[in-house]
Amino acid sequence: MADIRTVLVTGGAGFIGSAVIRHLINDTDVRVVNVDKLTYAANLKSLLSVSDDPRYAFEQVDIGDSGELERVFRTHDPDIVMHLAAESHVDRSIDGPEDFIQTNIVGTFRLLQVARAHLDTLDGDRRAAFRFHHISTDEVFGSLYPGDPEFTETHAYDPRSPYSASKAASDHLVRAWGETYGLPVVLSNCSNNYGPYHFPEKLIPLMIIKGLQGEPLPVYGKGDNVRDWLQVEDHARALWTIASTGVAGERYNVGGNNEKTNLEVVEVICDLLDEMAPPLSDGKARRSLISFVTDRPGHDFRYAIDASKIKRELGWEPRDTFETGIRQTVRWYLDNADWWQPILDGTYKLDRVGTGSKTAG
Ligand code: NAD
Repeated sequence: MADIRTVLVTGGAGFIGSAVIRHLINDTDVRVVNVDKLTYAANLKSLLSVSDDPRYAFEQVDIGDSGELERVFRTHDPDIVMHLAAESHVDRSIDGPEDFIQTNIVGTFRLLQVARAHLDTLDGDRRAAFRFHHISTDEVFGSLYPGDPEFTETHAYDPRSPYSASKAASDHLVRAWGETYGLPVVLSNCSNNYGPYHFPEKLIPLMIIKGLQGEPLPVYGKGDNVRDWLQVEDHARALWTIASTGVAGERYNVGGNNEKTNLEVVEVICDLLDEMAPPLSDGKARRSLISFVTDRPGHDFRYAIDASKIKRELGWEPRDTFETGIRQTVRWYLDNADWWQPILDGTYKLDRVGTGSKTAG
């Protein structure tokens, strides 16, 4: 196999993308090109520990801009593409689906076209090793009932939110570009991630920060929706395993074997905060902050992933259990208010001035 020299990561300033880049710079010797438009969800501070490394380069580019993508591919000549850039928040997709269609579907189409043209410039071992790795979600498979078998790689698609429909559409495009144009694609569908550097609109960081500050903890419906949780650094290792050793044309489900109801998750966070953070001013346990709010429309009941294929075929399995991962995550938010506080007060957008320009390292 050819040496993998350069990995182009889209969405590398986001939650999972930044974990992938930290893993690639810290634990491999590849060069990394981070292609990110820097939407509200991006935070270059998540990359501060690696962004001075000479193997790291940043390109502030919208994946919907074919001309800019062509320039980036010409400049950096990647051996692998790991495509994570997306609009990713289900609630936002319900309020405003347009950006989800533009980035997740049209943007993926434009990236596929540029990757196809790039493949034509490669030959020999480099052409054989090239991969377009599309990172997707278990939400494309729809919703399970209690007792239903977990999602396997062949589970029928049944997306039910604008977010999951846009991700399902992008999965189909990627597979079609593999079948029709011979682009060496690999797909992965993963369960819910949690961990450090998670934007505080998502359940776990939102509950940690609100719980720390003694604010009400709003839980949708009865809190009985079930998700399968995976620590983000475990996901980052899985993604690199798939991108570097996965078989072209194959897909891999990635999950943590950690099914929990939303209420269980929030209760664990409350208990960990009671243990690790200063007590509430009224002396009550933080579970007293939990309140139940009207459910989200079309809220999928349960997702669960069968991750046996990636374990069997590529040798990956998670290192963290939910119990170890959530404890470290709560600790991280307690120790890193300087990462999340500017997001809450809106000043993180100003932080980007001067760091959002194009740089090549
Ligand atoms: P995120 O919202 O934290 O980050 C997305 C990143 O993509 C941001 O940095 C944003 O600036 C960038 N981006 C958005 N639109 C862009 C565009 N048009 N051009 C270039 N960059 C753009 O998302 P995340 O949670 O890190 O998820 C990353 C990927 O993993 C997504 O494709 C998502 O569907 C998938 N996924 C996420 C989860 C999860 O639990 N978070 C689970 C399974 C799969």
